[in-house]
Amino acid sequence: MAAARKRPASNAPARPGPVAPARAGATPPGAPPPRPPRDAAPPKTPTAPKTPAAPKTPAAPQTPREPKPPKAARPTKAPKGGPRKADLKRLREVLVAMRARLLKSNEELSAGALRASEGDVSVDHMADHGSDSYEQAFTLSLLEEEGAILQAINVALAKIDGKGDFPYGMCEACAEEGPAAWDPETPAPWIPLGRLDVVPYATLCVPHQEQREDRA
Ligand SMILES: [Zn+2]
Repeated sequence: MAAARKRPASNAPARPGPVAPARAGATPPGAPPPRPPRDAAPPKTPTAPKTPAAPKTPAAPQTPREPKPPKAARPTKAPKGGPRKADLKRLREVLVAMRARLLKSNEELSAGALRASEGDVSVDHMADHGSDSYEQAFTLSLLEEEGAILQAINVALAKIDGKGDFPYGMCEACAEEGPAAWDPETPAPWIPLGRLDVVPYATLCVPHQEQREDRA
């Protein structure tokens, strides 16, 4: 009888002792340290790839800057030769006078074409109607041709002012082909002064001008 009572009594007080410290020890050291490494590891990997990806997209605005350098690279290396200062001054005056003459002619041709289109052709001249429409077509083609020359004159004047892709008097085709293609018997890549005196707005030497006209 006495042994049965003793067994439960001795077992009960002995085990509660070790159980309590086990609970307390597991919670305080275990909970705080494992959490920070788990939280830190996952956010680090996703943020790392995001940051380098963002700067890659803003790199796109740099592409529009690229087309500018190739234009500036062309005229800087001008080979020896070409029109001298006095030549440029003379040719500029020729170009300016030519432009004034063309603008006046353009005005007169436009006024004439306008008068004709407004029905200046009376019934009495019906027989001449065919020749009148021919004249109108001729006037229009003249206006077109003069407009193209005016544009070429403005480009040439800009070149003399140093604002062109090529220096004034240089054949653009020779310049693009490079020194290996230049005929040593000619002033290539420069357009001969004799040609500039006749066609001061020329952008090509005679051989290249003829080549271009053969293609067209
Ligand atoms: Zn040429």
